[in-house]
This record gives sequence, structure tokens and C-alpha cells, in this order.
Amino acid sequence: MAGKTVLILGGGTGGLVAANRLRRALDKENRIVLVDRSPYYTLQPSLSWVMLGQRSLPRITRDLRDLRKKAIEVKTAEIASLDLANKKVQLAKEELAYDYLIIALGAAYSDAEVPGLNRAWTYYHPDGADGIHEELPLFSSGRIVLAAAALPYKCPPSLYEGAFLLDNYFRKRRLRANIDIRIYTPEATPLTQYGAEAGERVARLLQSRDIGFSGGLQMKSVDHDKRLIEFQIGEQVPFDMLIAVPVHVLPPVLTTTGLAGADGWLAVDRETLLTAAADVYAIGDCNSVPIADGQTLPKSGVFAHGEAEVVARNLTSEIVGRDPIWAFGGQGACFMETGGGRGAYLSGNFYTDPPQVTMGGPNRLMHWAKVGSERVWLWRWF
Ligand SMILES: Cc1cc2nc3c(=O)[nH]c(=O)nc-3n(C[C@H](O)[C@H](O)[C@H](O)COP(=O)(O)OP(=O)(O)OC[C@H]3O[C@@H](n4cnc5c(N)ncnc54)[C@H](O)[C@@H]3O)c2cc1C
Repeated sequence: MAGKTVLILGGGTGGLVAANRLRRALDKENRIVLVDRSPYYTLQPSLSWVMLGQRSLPRITRDLRDLRKKAIEVKTAEIASLDLANKKVQLAKEELAYDYLIIALGAAYSDAEVPGLNRAWTYYHPDGADGIHEELPLFSSGRIVLAAAALPYKCPPSLYEGAFLLDNYFRKRRLRANIDIRIYTPEATPLTQYGAEAGERVARLLQSRDIGFSGGLQMKSVDHDKRLIEFQIGEQVPFDMLIAVPVHVLPPVLTTTGLAGADGWLAVDRETLLTAAADVYAIGDCNSVPIADGQTLPKSGVFAHGEAEVVARNLTSEIVGRDPIWAFGGQGACFMETGGGRGAYLSGNFYTDPPQVTMGGPNRLMHWAKVGSERVWLWRWF
């Protein structure tokens, strides 16, 4: 039997796990090809630490080309288009044919929907996190607004994590009394996808830290000269520093594939991650998985990881002639730093109705568990 080519688009969380798992499981006659526009991988859950200067970008960045040592073919190139009917992907200067395709291109950020948002601070991008780190020492009084511009966005707890960490940062500098920290988000209550228990606990934690919360607000525009955010219902909110989560959209190269569902993200079978196209899987932030209450599975690394494991196992089975039997079951967990060397841990099953998610902590153990998982992650996949 001739070897197969598994082409993986995207060298982020999902692509990395899929490439490693497939490489370990399959003979070398099968090619594992990974394409990303960037030669570098940056661990996004550590960006909030970069914002505070507790991590440098080099410390949480790895070179994807190191995967070549493991016989994973890494190509650094922009993906220009997908020809699913003929099983081909066009890169800037090269065309790649595949037997199986795993799309793991994540979510892209868009400036078009909210005028002025592109000038806000953000730790959702490595350079943005570094920029906030340089700016924070200059800030000694006024209002910091942390705002999610639109839903869905990656790792919903990280907006709250940002607020808790900033609260602690200014308490340590003995400036907290001069600084008003507020969260604005389209979510009606914190972490709506995580079920009532986790949301209520986060709401109480915000209250105990004197962090304001205003939900149900969709951002319309930002006026930096007047330092005003306008929301779609007409409410205007002043700020001295705006830290925003950008609008997340399907990567433009995927919009013409015909695989997107009504909500604009790639539609998949929630157990196998198979799309409507033959032998094409979509994992991680670029897909949309319906869960209870009209919600979708949060866009989180833990799900990109879990989905990659399932797709890699099933593809391995298919290639070696066994039945693909694995199903993704909606299990997920993530850390949320709460400041002062403490963290919380949100874990549970998101496929149940309602999602059964519990929150452990905040305590020191969960903070150190996040530190440990950062180290293990960067060591395990490179
Ligand atoms: C501040 C922050 C904190 C977070 N904290 C957590 C956390 O605590 N726990 C958790 O589980 N998740 C967390 N996340 C979310 C997590 O990082 C993402 O959900 C996860 O990385 C998604 O994996 P992915 O493979 O789908 O996409 P990504 O990891 O984003 O990878 C997509 C890749 O595709 C590449 N790409 C896109 N388009 C093209 C193109 N046209 N050509 C070539 N390459 C392309 C990109 O360069 C990128 O490398 C956090 C995210 C942020 C921003």
C-alpha cells in the first residue's frame, strides 16, 4: 500500500498536536506536512504574563522548523487557497496535494467591524502584550476598560484573567485606589458557555476585587481623541486605557471553501471533526461546535488539543486499515490566573445539557499547575 500524505494547515495548538501524534503513530512512508505562515509558535495562554513582564516572548516561543528533526515536513508559507474537489492546497509559491487534510488555521482578527478598535491595547497578540507591559508603569490613575469587542473570542476566561492580574498589579504598586477597572462584554453574565456555577463564582470574585462588570454590550466604535467607547445600544463609556479583545473571524482563506456554517465558522461533526468535504477535518478555533442552549464550544486551546488527538487517532486507524472509533466527547479544562500567585481551574464536560463545569480554587496550587503545564507543553511538542 502506497504511503499517504496528511496535510495540516496551521502550526498552532491543534496543528502541533495533530502533527506530533500522526508522526509518532505512522510509518515514515506516510508524509506529515505542516504549513504555517510563521516559522514561530508562541504559547498564547502565557500572553497575560507577558503583559505583566512575568514572561518574555522568547521564553514562550519555539521554532516550528525544529519539528523537521522528527520527520515532520514544515513549510513556512502563506496559504493562498484550497481546492477541496481536487485535494490540493495552493501556497504562495507551491501547490501541495493531500490524501487527508486537517484545517487548524485558528481565528483571525478583524479591524473592519469596530472603527477605532485597531488602536486599542490588546494582549491577544504577542506584540500587543509586550506593548502593554511597557505602558503599564506609566499608568498611575484613571479608568482601565477591558472589553471584548464581540463574541466568540478565544479562551473566554482570559478577559477576566487580565482584569484580575491588573487588579493585583496595581495593588502591589499601591495605586489600586486611584484606578477603576471595568469589564465590558457582549456576554450577559461571565462565562455563559461554562454554565451557571462557574459564571456565578467569577462574578463574585470580580465583586470582591472591586472590578466592574457590564454585560450584554456589543461594541460599535472607539473614539481615541475623546477616549470614548460607543456601544451598539448607544451607551458611551469613557476610558483612560482601553485593553480590548479584538473581533475574531474565520481566516479569510477559508471563507471561499464552502465549509462555513450559518455562524461563519467551519461546520463539523462534533465527534469526528469531519467537515462536509471528503477527508477534510477542521479542528480548533476555526470550527464551530454547537452545545446546549444555542451556545457553541468555547474557542480554547484545550479543545483544539482534544480534537487534534481524536482526528490523529482516527486517521491513523484509517491509514493502517483499522476502523476509526474515536469520538471527541466535549471534555475541557483551563486555568484562570487570579493574581497574587493564585489561580483557578475550570473543568468539565461541555457536551452535556447544561455544561457541567466546575471551578477549583483560586489557590496557589492552580497557579503552579499553570506554570507546570506551560513548561510541559513547550517541551512535549517540540
Ligand atoms: C491571551 C490568550 C490566552 C489564552 N489562554 C488559554 C488558556 O488558558 N487555555 C486554553 O485552552 N486556551 C487559551 N487560549 C486560546 C488558545 O491559545 C487557542 O484557542 C488555540 O491556540 C487554538 O488553536 P488552533 O490550532 O485552533 O489555532 P492557533 O493556535 O491560533 O493556530 C493557528 C495557526 O494558523 C496559522 N495561519 C492562519 N492563517 C494562515 C494562512 N492563511 N497561511 C498560513 N498560516 C496561517 C497561524 O499563523 C497560526 O499559527 C488563549 C488565547 C489567548 C489569545
